[in-house]
Amino acid sequence: APLPGDYVATFVAPAWQPVLRQKIQDGIQRQIGWSLEIEIVRADGRTIWARCSGEPVIENGRVVRLRGVTLDIDEAKRAEQLLRQSEERFARIFQLLPYPMGLTRRSNGQYLNVNTAWEEVLGIPREEAIGQSAISLGIYTPQQRSELMAAITPEGRLTSHECEMTVRGGGKRSILQSMRATDFDGQDCWLFALHDITERKRAEEWVREREELLSLTISAAALGLWDWDLPNGMVTGDTRWHAMYGLKPGAPVKALHWTAAIGPADAPRILKEVARHSTHLETPFDATWRIDQTRATGRWIRSLGKIVRFGADGMPLRMVGVSMDVTAQSEQEERLQRLAHYDALTGLANRVLLAQTLEHAMQQARNKHSLLGVAYLDLDGFKPVNDRLGHEAGDQLLVIVATRLRHALRAMDCVARLGGDEFVLLLPGMGQTEDCERMLYRVMESIAAPYTLGTEQVSVTASIGYTLYPQDGSDADTLLRHADQAMYAAKQAGRNRFHQFDTAQERASQQVREQLVQMQDALTAGEFVLYLQPKVDMRLGTVVGAEALARWQHPERGVLSPAAFLPLLQHTELEFTFDAWVVVSALGLVRTLLAAGLVLPVSINIAAPHLQQPGFAKWLAGLLERHPDIAPSLLELEITETAALYNIHMVAETLGALNKLGIRTSLDDFGTGYSSLSYLRRLPLHTLKIDQSFVQGMLADSGDLAIVQGVVGLARSFNYSVIAEGVETVEQGEKLLQLGCTLAQGYFVARPMPVLAFIDWAAQWQAPQAWQIRGAADSELQTTADVEPEPELSILQMVTLTQ
Ligand code: C2E
Ligand code: MG
Ligand code: MG
Repeated sequence: APLPGDYVATFVAPAWQPVLRQKIQDGIQRQIGWSLEIEIVRADGRTIWARCSGEPVIENGRVVRLRGVTLDIDEAKRAEQLLRQSEERFARIFQLLPYPMGLTRRSNGQYLNVNTAWEEVLGIPREEAIGQSAISLGIYTPQQRSELMAAITPEGRLTSHECEMTVRGGGKRSILQSMRATDFDGQDCWLFALHDITERKRAEEWVREREELLSLTISAAALGLWDWDLPNGMVTGDTRWHAMYGLKPGAPVKALHWTAAIGPADAPRILKEVARHSTHLETPFDATWRIDQTRATGRWIRSLGKIVRFGADGMPLRMVGVSMDVTAQSEQEERLQRLAHYDALTGLANRVLLAQTLEHAMQQARNKHSLLGVAYLDLDGFKPVNDRLGHEAGDQLLVIVATRLRHALRAMDCVARLGGDEFVLLLPGMGQTEDCERMLYRVMESIAAPYTLGTEQVSVTASIGYTLYPQDGSDADTLLRHADQAMYAAKQAGRNRFHQFDTAQERASQQVREQLVQMQDALTAGEFVLYLQPKVDMRLGTVVGAEALARWQHPERGVLSPAAFLPLLQHTELEFTFDAWVVVSALGLVRTLLAAGLVLPVSINIAAPHLQQPGFAKWLAGLLERHPDIAPSLLELEITETAALYNIHMVAETLGALNKLGIRTSLDDFGTGYSSLSYLRRLPLHTLKIDQSFVQGMLADSGDLAIVQGVVGLARSFNYSVIAEGVETVEQGEKLLQLGCTLAQGYFVARPMPVLAFIDWAAQWQAPQAWQIRGAADSELQTTADVEPEPELSILQMVTLTQ
């Protein structure tokens, strides 16, 4: 029913009012109808979609009215809207699907649509693709397309067809394609989906290559694979593994218990390794053992494995691994071991193995409270065999000796060769010295039996030194040294014998070594001093010189005589140091005497070996050069007769050189040695010093007297001067004067004393009356002159004395 009022203003939704008004306006003006869909507001307030159609009613060429209908199209409108929304959503989903998808026209293969994933995989923008075909885009070749088409089922389906597509830029991708024939907007289409499997294919390829490499490695390394069921102990392996365990080719493979063909000693070690590995999975199970140890051909197998399954309780259940035959390496290792521990020639233990065995044997001896004999054996007469018959024969002999030693000893004993013809025997479990000696007897006997070397028969003997541990409680090295030392003693005692190391003697020599250290310290601390003992001319009552005698001013033991320390020095390095000190100190004494107005030669005693050192004279000359204020004639050397004789040629040469320097020399303790006249003649000497034993014996013993007489006569005929030492009584002096010996030294004149005391003493000494009378009387008796001191010297001395 027509309603009053403005239709537009009353019913049309405000947003649509201008549109409708415009349409109406337009219709009136152009006198045409209109129709449009708008929203109108119902009287109940609901807004609905309506189609408003109207036209102007024209009368007499004029628009007099408007008429029209309003149709409720709300339901249809909403349905359409929903459809559109759903289509849009679907299109959006299609675009967003992560699988490359699209639609092509079946007739020509042109793309109707593709989604974003498709764009991404193929690298082609959607706009470009639509209207093009896969062939025209170069995605695949016509040939590929035919293959694809051929694979489609009669129902128009294709599932996971694998093909290779070329993407933008020329790259290839492996694609699985699925297709389905479909009707789309009335067109026959293919709906397709792609699945890019390029990465997966690559990974598969890689795995395959790895697998091939692994199997190549396994066969190249001749590895046997195995799988060990740990709880029940059964192992299954491949044929190679079984072959290692002695399976014949072609025989059926069956599981073995893991202990099959393993030595009983190996089993605990292997179990221990399993246990270790089960707690340290980062390092593989690794064990090497010998299978079938009963046969000499038993192979060495090394197995590496990994536990791959554990039970809920944490117990290992399964281990897989590989085994390899390492027999060659193991044997090589064994050879190296032998080389490192055994002597190549004799097969006996070498020094390295000896050291190990000795340490062990020492510990055993301690634990068992028994004695360990450590013996050092050296062959006597081996060198001549070597020299005469050649090294080969020598080697042959050593090999036989080694065999005999092994036979003579027990299995528990160790025989080692240290090189050359030196062997060490370790004899454990000795109850007492006699046990050891009994065994050494056996050894000596076996060595001493004759040897046949080619056509030659030779014989050698053994010198053995031994020591018993822990009686000798030294360390291993020292035990060997002690045995060696004792062997040396056996050699010195005449060879072909054994000798026990003397611990007491070793202690004594240890003491000596300590004392030597003390003496060395004393020397640096200045505890040594030279005393002076005067030498006098009995007839003239003059002091003609002094002998420097060493004293040790020991901080605890007081002043010590040479007898207390000189023997210690003998044959040591310190002897030279000491003698050098004596010479330097003596030069100091000469200077002190000169300062006190005493121009007296000071004599020093020189140790035999020092004199025989090459270059001794040169050394002394150098020393004197550094003391230019001291005339060489003020230094005298006293050499003991035995020292002079030791190497007559060299001593003669040295004495000659000293002579040239102006140093006087005398032969000390003369008569105690065994100087022959011919020797004496060859020595350029100045003085013979009669030993005090003859001087002291001469008044009671005609033999001593004869010697003194003889020495005086000898001196005279060789034109040496002569001096008597050890004059203790006035009568001895008188007798000497009577025999023609005017020079003397002895307690009767004065004891050795410090230099300052000596200076005081020299100032007041007077010869006894008896000597002067005797001297005067004798000088008349003497036809030829006594061997007199050098004239210029005696003048000097007289001057000194009168002062
Ligand atoms: P020697 O060279 O034959 O020295 C004489 C020794 O006889 C000295 O003993 C001296 O004190 C001692 N004597 C001197 N007159 C008498 C006497 O009337 N009666 C008795 N019973 N003995 C007397 P000393 O000083 O104990 O020296 C002993 C030996 O030591 C020396 O014998 C000498 O061979 C050696 N000697 C001393 N000092 C040195 C030294 O500085 N260097 C070296 N290499 N040897 C020395
Ligand atoms: Mg002397
Ligand atoms: Mg003497």
